[in-house]
Amino acid sequence: MSVVVWWGTRSEAARRGVVADVCPSCSCVTSFLVFDHFTAFHVYEVAVGEPQYVESTRYCLNCQKQFAFDDELYLDVLSPSEVGSISMEEGIRRTNRKLAALLELLDHLRHLSAGAAYRSRDIEASREALDEAVRLFEKLIYRGADLTGIAQSLTRWELLSDTEHAAVLSSLRDLAEPHKTQSA
Ligand SMILES: [Zn+2]
Repeated sequence: MSVVVWWGTRSEAARRGVVADVCPSCSCVTSFLVFDHFTAFHVYEVAVGEPQYVESTRYCLNCQKQFAFDDELYLDVLSPSEVGSISMEEGIRRTNRKLAALLELLDHLRHLSAGAAYRSRDIEASREALDEAVRLFEKLIYRGADLTGIAQSLTRWELLSDTEHAAVLSSLRDLAEPHKTQSA
């Protein structure tokens, strides 16, 4: 009788649940499946000992690409059954506080452009500045940019002067087009 010894480590993935976020690849706000990856030692197809945790990933349900998953960045990972009964807005609010705050601020700024009173000498120019700020801010949100600092200025938009608006816009442009001086 011959004996075939087959053993080694093998990767295993366990589906943990769902979070909402911006996809770095397809640049949309969407749901991600979160997977925990382990390696387990196998002998004759049977796992021996405890599986060793390796890493977690998030898988975009829109473009089907996989990215690293950092627990620290999310409030919660929802179970697939929970996700079925809630809206995307609710999913964002419950899993991704940072993104929820940015989208809320974007909505707030959009409503300002409908006709708020500005601390400005030139209402038309001020409105154009706000429109550009909203456009750039939205673009940056969907790019997954770090907007912590700029968001603080944007929350105070209606209290800022023309000069301060120009400074905020300039920061937004720098973030949106950091390589504009380099030729493609
Ligand atoms: Zn994607």
